[in-house]
Amino acid sequence: MGGMVRSAAKVCVMLATVGVLSGSVVASAVAEAPGMVGRYSTPDSAAALPPVRGGDKVCDGQVALDWPVSVVAWTEIRDLRDLGLPVCDVTWGFYALDAWWGMSYQDASGEVFIQIEANDAEYADSADPDMAIRSVVRHEFGHAIVYEAGLQEAELRATFTDPLSWTDESTEPGNEVAADAIAAVLAAERNDEQWSVYVEDVSAASIGAAEALVAASVGSGV
Ligand SMILES: [Zn+2]
Repeated sequence: MGGMVRSAAKVCVMLATVGVLSGSVVASAVAEAPGMVGRYSTPDSAAALPPVRGGDKVCDGQVALDWPVSVVAWTEIRDLRDLGLPVCDVTWGFYALDAWWGMSYQDASGEVFIQIEANDAEYADSADPDMAIRSVVRHEFGHAIVYEAGLQEAELRATFTDPLSWTDESTEPGNEVAADAIAAVLAAERNDEQWSVYVEDVSAASIGAAEALVAASVGSGV
């Protein structure tokens, strides 16, 4: 199980400037996804889609609710889906979480679940609450990509070696660096910034490894 803590993170959350790390590996992988070629080629097509509204379905069987957090999160999930990422293989849920902004887990059957803090007041201390919510979506989906790839903590840590800015007794460093690195790659792909909680500066090596995981994940959905 991986989580994205909120309260402890407030003192050490870093605003990663990941835009310059946008990699050609990801760009080319995404460009090959159906419907993506030329998406941003004209001012018209570059116009942002409207936000997901309550009652909309981004993923079959998963209804977006009209809470502010749900609207922001589902809009990000939709935009990741439109990049070819298998976000609809995940069951998304919105809860009053205890100490976390997000949680993710894979059950014994292989199903992946992501839980997002539903209360917008919990994000109010962030400089950009909507970006914090989008960052949670991307970080937790980073865990989902790792789960789907079947990677375990030891092999992840051998690849994702960045030091963590903080840990607690349940932190799995390899999983968290991988999730932060994947989130940074996805944020760059979305022309967004990413709140990086566990890693102050995601290394180029981790970004490269994350790009490969993202590229493998694009189009892999059912
Ligand atoms: Zn995490």
